[in-house]
Amino acid sequence: MTAEPIISLRRITKAFGEGDAAFQALRGIDLTINAGDFVAVMGPSGSGKSTMMNILGCLDTPTGGEYLFMGQHVERFDQDQRALLRRRYLGFIFQGYNLLARTSALENVELPLLYRGEARSVRRDMAMEALKKVGLEAWSHHTPSELSGGQQQRVAIARAIVAKPQVLLADEPTGNLDTARSIEIMQLLDRFNVESGITIVMVTHEPDMAEFAHTTVHFRDGLVERIEENQARSGATA
Ligand code: ADP
Ligand code: MG
Repeated sequence: MTAEPIISLRRITKAFGEGDAAFQALRGIDLTINAGDFVAVMGPSGSGKSTMMNILGCLDTPTGGEYLFMGQHVERFDQDQRALLRRRYLGFIFQGYNLLARTSALENVELPLLYRGEARSVRRDMAMEALKKVGLEAWSHHTPSELSGGQQQRVAIARAIVAKPQVLLADEPTGNLDTARSIEIMQLLDRFNVESGITIVMVTHEPDMAEFAHTTVHFRDGLVERIEENQARSGATA
């Protein structure tokens, strides 16, 4: 199997603020992620993990360096092109689930399809299919407040994958969950990675969760400190 880079970061920098008050959150990140990879990102609080995830997800732009997505120079994209990349190719999961309250699980999962302009019946079918994949088809009409934390995160995963993205970006997806619930979430992500070949980039503080990934990237002070292969998971059959 030939691995192709889906994402390449080259000397990515990010400064917050200007002049003397500027803070360098990223100081030159080089990172290549191949299609189908499962990458964990670890590192101390404040080391720049979320800043990089936001750049990968086109929620923020770098100050310098190159970001290639499937060979395209994202750092040259305008706002519309970034929005398109986000909608067509990327899915997100956050620590806090970020679901709309007073809105059913089904409607939450339909949202990305609404932004894409899909017809109502298509949205329903695709959202139900995604909810089924996370084991929540029986909960489709419940609102977030009627669901447990683990269930809410599974709704958020269904929303993230409903439009069949190439890359799933997860920033501390198990940060609010107990170990058993966290492992359920990791098993789901692992299954999507294996079955659909979706590329996953996941920030986590927990070594137990990072073990599900093929590769762990360690951040420190806005730099990649080291990259570690997980021999047990990397799927190398050579
Ligand atoms: P991590 O996710 O690794 O904990 P972050 O990427 O959130 O770290 O933050 C890296 C550094 O950048 C921190 O020192 C943080 O305070 C700073 N930072 C992040 N976002 C902003 C912002 N919008 N404005 C100013 N500083 C920020
Ligand atoms: Mg963070």
